[in-house]
Amino acid sequence: MIFQLNERQEKIINIVKKNQPITSEAIASELNLTRATLRPDLAILTMSGILDARPKVGYFYTGKSSLSYISEKIKSIKVSEVISVPIVVDEATSLYDAIVLMFLEDVGSIYVTNKGFLSGVVSRKDFLKSALGGMDLNKVPIGMIMTRMPNIIYVEAEDSILTAAIKLIDHEIDSLPVVDENSEEEKNYKVIGRITKTTITRLFVELGKNE
Ligand code: ADP
Repeated sequence: MIFQLNERQEKIINIVKKNQPITSEAIASELNLTRATLRPDLAILTMSGILDARPKVGYFYTGKSSLSYISEKIKSIKVSEVISVPIVVDEATSLYDAIVLMFLEDVGSIYVTNKGFLSGVVSRKDFLKSALGGMDLNKVPIGMIMTRMPNIIYVEAEDSILTAAIKLIDHEIDSLPVVDENSEEEKNYKVIGRITKTTITRLFVELGKNE
């Protein structure tokens, strides 16, 4: 993964752009360097897709910037590759039990189901609102305070992680249920996972550290 090219790599790109196809010997002589010195730079530039190497012909410039490489890499990561385990309760669960679960599982959002299918989402602030409103936490079911379908924003396992991140930002929410749309006709979705802002931050760190 490349985030920044060094000066020599930028020079190599310019030489290839002007003289393509060009052999590594020719690039080395333009730069007054040996082929061996250039090898790591050429390896990075071809691995990242900025240059293309054809045997016996030489190097070509593909027109891709390192930024477009990063964007392609992010788009290629699927939700299924970074999915976490969802915390799910039935609509009939009391606010008290759901709050305890939120602490025990150390999550910020809980997904709610009715007969096993996604029916809502409850976040920390939803609980705070109900507590401030003086609701009886032991008597009121979570179904009374949750954000309901069809207003739930979700993703599918095959979606790109970029799609998920855009939904989190656009809707100003912390998490997205990952659903299985097999039974789409009846609009019944099984909750199979979750994607949170932490998922995206963790991925950002991994990509940044090149792990
Ligand atoms: P917080 O309580 O920390 O602000 P969120 O920003 O995730 O957490 O939630 C804000 C509001 O959006 C809450 O009312 C919550 O029910 C709702 N919400 C959270 N996630 C979703 C989602 N995936 N789809 C629809 N609404 C959501």
